[in-house]
Amino acid sequence: MSLGKDEKIITSGLSTRVIHHNESYAKETGTIMPPIFPSSTFLHGNESGFDYTRSGNPNFRILESVLSSLEDCKYANVFSSGVAAITAIVSSLKKDDLILCEENLYGCTVRLFEQVFKRFGLRTVWIDFTNSIPEEIIPKLNPAMIWIESPTNPLLKIININKICTIANKMKIPVVVDNTFATPILQQPLKLGATLSLTSTTKYINGHSDALGGAVCTESSEWNTRLIFAQKALGLNPSPFDCWLITRGVKTLPLRLERQVKNASEIANKLADHTLIDVVRYPFRNDHPQSKLAKKQMLSGGAIVTASLNANEKITYSFCKSLRLFKMAESLGGIESLICHPATMTHASVPRETKLKIGITDSLIRFSVGCEDIDDLIADLNQAFEKIS
Ligand SMILES: *Cc1c(COP(=O)(O)O)cnc(C)c1O
Repeated sequence: MSLGKDEKIITSGLSTRVIHHNESYAKETGTIMPPIFPSSTFLHGNESGFDYTRSGNPNFRILESVLSSLEDCKYANVFSSGVAAITAIVSSLKKDDLILCEENLYGCTVRLFEQVFKRFGLRTVWIDFTNSIPEEIIPKLNPAMIWIESPTNPLLKIININKICTIANKMKIPVVVDNTFATPILQQPLKLGATLSLTSTTKYINGHSDALGGAVCTESSEWNTRLIFAQKALGLNPSPFDCWLITRGVKTLPLRLERQVKNASEIANKLADHTLIDVVRYPFRNDHPQSKLAKKQMLSGGAIVTASLNANEKITYSFCKSLRLFKMAESLGGIESLICHPATMTHASVPRETKLKIGITDSLIRFSVGCEDIDDLIADLNQAFEKIS
């Protein structure tokens, strides 16, 4: 069986592209779905250039081709998880390099920088990008890299990607945008000037909470070379099977997101009306502090809703436990709805004073809204509210 070359489907339709990418694989058999290539090693000198799966595998290529099509860019590299993708990027830096970070990054990103890479001499500065002047702070600190996330987790702050990139690009400072929450469908960081667009494909891209993966997209061939090197030198490669699952999952991404975003915006509005809710955060609601920027930068408000209850930690926790359809679990972006208590779950490793400083209080909850019937989700919220009132 020969592996067909990556024939990019020429169409502007995203939904078509994610379904029909790379149909040329396994031409001889007529298979509609790509096969899985579990082989760890390949015949020396083969036409496609594969040698050993740690440095490349047909299932990686298939997924990379759809992800670069989705992001509309030259290069995509896949990794074993979002954290592996972060590791790959950071491993290209050297001792004493400074990363200027948004202070509300994903908890495991913070842990990786502060508890691992710091020991190798990496320096970090954490700032609130919604509340600082990038045209002053970036030249003043002259960092080796800038790391942002938008919307942020769990507070859904919206960071002005284009503004930061415009300043950084002039100074040749690479900007990394963790685009996991928005996905390339709702937001395209490379188009806004970012050097690297990072995604935990574990979340929306796969969408079924049954595989782990990460990806980095870029237009830069130098960065592409560095990422390929990091994949094989550090052993950050995914498994062919996980890539196959994610390749299958991504086909329904546009469809899933459409339903999830619709459900999420209805839930945000419902929550905002409830007396037990103190604040609701949803990027496209007019009471969101950066709603104007969100509407400019994103296609829709996404499918995560954050809220804070008029209740202490114990009651907030029991509200989460009382929900039946919203399962209490880490992670997000699957077809099933989830509820998370960031202070004790996703951000448990962040020191308490840091949590409070950035607004992760004990009453904060984060909904990852799924594809269920909206009436059932709202009924579930109502019964949980009744339990705690
Ligand atoms: C989950 C997540 C990650 C890490 O991805 P893994 O696949 O769990 O390693 C990074 N960034 C964000 C915003 C995430 O939600």
